[in-house]
Formats: sequence, structure tokens, C-alpha cells
Amino acid sequence: MAKLQPVRGTRDLIGEDARAHLHVIDAARATAGTYGYRPIETPVFEFTEVFQRTLGETSDIVTKEMYTFQDKGGDSLTLRPEGTAGIARAVLSGGLQNELPLKWCYAGPMFRHERPQKGRLRQFHQIGVELIGVAEPIGDVEVIALAAATLDALGVLPATTLELNTLGDNESRGAYREALVSYLEQFRDRLSEDSKQRLARNPLRILDSKNNDDRAVIADAPSFSDYLTPDAQTFFDAVRGGLDDLGIAYQINPRLVRGLDYYCHTAFEFTTDQLGAQGTVLAGGRYDGLIEMMGGQPTPGVGWAAGIERLAMLIGPTSTGPRPISVIGIGPAGEKAALKVAQDLRQTGFTIELNYRGGLKRGLRRADKIGAAVAVFLGEDELARDGATVRNLDDGSQTDVSLAELKDHLAEYR
Ligand code: ATP
Ligand code: MG
Repeated sequence: MAKLQPVRGTRDLIGEDARAHLHVIDAARATAGTYGYRPIETPVFEFTEVFQRTLGETSDIVTKEMYTFQDKGGDSLTLRPEGTAGIARAVLSGGLQNELPLKWCYAGPMFRHERPQKGRLRQFHQIGVELIGVAEPIGDVEVIALAAATLDALGVLPATTLELNTLGDNESRGAYREALVSYLEQFRDRLSEDSKQRLARNPLRILDSKNNDDRAVIADAPSFSDYLTPDAQTFFDAVRGGLDDLGIAYQINPRLVRGLDYYCHTAFEFTTDQLGAQGTVLAGGRYDGLIEMMGGQPTPGVGWAAGIERLAMLIGPTSTGPRPISVIGIGPAGEKAALKVAQDLRQTGFTIELNYRGGLKRGLRRADKIGAAVAVFLGEDELARDGATVRNLDDGSQTDVSLAELKDHLAEYR
């Protein structure tokens, strides 16, 4: 029999964790809404092809991290490791290429078979946005501004740094790749096994390596900026200009690359030094090649994704919303009345905890435990006068209130 434990790298969201999680999603959705980005939900699993083709056969995600399985019909399916490929698939299968630009935000679980540690799970959750169909640098500026606004809404923008780089166009990348490979070949022996493999297949990824030996070699590697075509340079200048106009501060990080094949031009990350090794909270970039790679018309795109767990850790405990009101029925008639009174108060927007059984003492103990602000007693005496007793649980003071006046009396606790 299966062990009665969560699978390694997965976790339950309970209490404050669940609340913090939803808080991040709500804030992200609301902020994205002000930029005109609408919600999209795509399935949690797709045909394996969707990821294999687009993420690149040599990416860490495809080679090591995907949860791939054969379903009962014999299809190879994969739990989505990220959101963008499925959304691009949705553009194509939904025939939405005539409706550009598409502006979407999403939130949901992602699955990667990685070594679990703080800030690194096997089922984790992301919020993200995609702007599809805008080739102009103003698109990059907008999604980065939206990222900053989202972090600001969550109160963590000051704890982060925006790091920015460009991967240029195809021509720039080709020239840079050549320069990078000839540099790295000199230090082949010092590279990790993974990076030796990448040298032939996808050398840019070596820049993204977290291995210390690799990092030492990378430190003196040639810089992308020296290999940009004039067009790519102009594009990057426009992105930087737009960010400057909006007063969004950034640092150029010439080593910043995205771990996936379909990125070009702008790459960015919001990082923090407050989460230890897992310091990237939000990452994104431009992916003009993606939809074409999937077999569609060339269609530009730019977007980002942020880890909800990492954001929640950065935010820390947040306020828990309105304190509840405990409605406590005493005796059979009181319990019957309490059910109705609770319903009535809930329908006018009060947060009500109803005691299900056990009378006054037990009701009060529970009210204390859940941090209720007031308790409303309904017993025989109260019913006889068509009223309730309202006890302020902070100072113990009690007031007799008629049922007709109850809502007004409790107004401050709504
Ligand atoms: P890393 O370099 O940390 O492995 P990545 O480049 O694989 O990150 P992306 O694919 O860009 O990450 O995902 C965007 C964000 O999603 C990350 O910045 C991070 O906040 C979050 N994230 C990625 N993988 C995980 C994971 N296994 N557990 C928790 N959060 C994750
Ligand atoms: Mg990763």
C-alpha cells in the first residue's frame, strides 16, 4: 500500500500557507487586469511533444525534469513543467492567430522532477503573463512593468533587483555562440560533466549553470553585448529607454540567459538575496521563435512566470482578514435560531463561525481559539425577548441587543 505521506517535493497548503498562496494569485490577477491581461487556464497535462519540441531536446527540463507517462490509450503525456508551451499550443489549436495581440495571465501548478530543497519543489506553482503578437520593444517594457507592479502590489518590490540582458536576434546569437564555444573549449577540463555535454549541443546554457566550477570559468566568458547586430542593439536600447522612462531600475547582467531554447532578445529576472540559493522569484523574456517552432505562422511573444512559493516566503505572514463573529446557540431552540441568524448575517457580508454543538462554554472556547472578535449568544432568555447577547471578546463587556438591531450593532466587525 502506498505510504500515507505526500510525495517527495509536494506539499499540502493548509491554513496560513493556503491563504498566502491565494493572496499572491489574487494580487497578480488584479494587477494584470489593470494592464488588460485576462485569465487563461490550460490543461495540466499535454502531449509530450508540446514540451519536447519547444523546450529543446537538450534543456534540463526535457532531459531530466519532466513527469512523462503513457496513458491508457498509449499516448505519451507530460505534466506541464511550465506554462508558456501550453499557451502557445492553445493559440494554435484554438485558431487564435487572427486575434492578436493576446494578453493573458495564468496561475497554477507546474511539475518538475528536481532535487527538492527550500524553494524548490516537484509540484510548485506559478503565476505568469504572456503578451503574444507584439514584436515591438514596448511589449517587453509593458510585461516588465507589469512584473514590477505585481511585486509592488505584494509589497516585495524593494526586496528584489531587476536583472536585464539581451540574447539578441538569431544572427547575434550565432556569432556569440561561436565566440563562447571557442572560449569555453580552452577550459573544457574544468567544466562540469553536464556542461561538457552542453558545449556541443547548447553552449549558451552553460552560462546558466549553478555549478561552482562552471561559474568560475564563466566569469571571464565573452559578453553578449559585443556580438549584437545593430538591429538587436537598437531593440535593446528601446527596451532600456522604456524602462528608464517609467522609472523602473535595473541592472545589466551579461551572464543572464533563459534556460529554454525559444528565447531571444530581452531576458530578465527579479532576484532577491533574502531566499538563499533559490533567489530568482520571477523570470521571463521574449520568445519570438516559439509558435513557429510549433508549426504556426511566425508570431512574436514575451512573458514571465514567478514562483508562488518563493513569493509567499518573501512576503512572510500577512494579515488574516476580518476576525470572525461566533454565533453560539444554547439549547435546542437557541441552536435552531442561531442557524438562521448566522445565515442572515453571512448574507449581509459578515464572517460568521457557527457553533455546531455543545452550548455556551464550548462555544466560547472555540471562539477564543479562532480569534473571534465578538460572540453572539442565543439562548432561552434571548429568544424570549427576540434578541441576542453580544459579548466583546477582547474586553468581556456584554450588551443586550434586539435581533432587529443586531446587524447595525455588529457593523464595525464586517
Ligand atoms: P531555477 O534557475 O531556480 O531552476 P528556472 O530557470 O528553472 O529556475 P523558470 O523556469 O524560469 O525557473 O521558472 C520561473 C520561476 O518559477 C522561478 O524563478 C522560480 O521562482 C519558480 N520555480 C522554478 N522551478 C521551481 C521549483 N522547482 N520549485 C519552486 N519554484 C520554482
Ligand atoms: Mg530549474
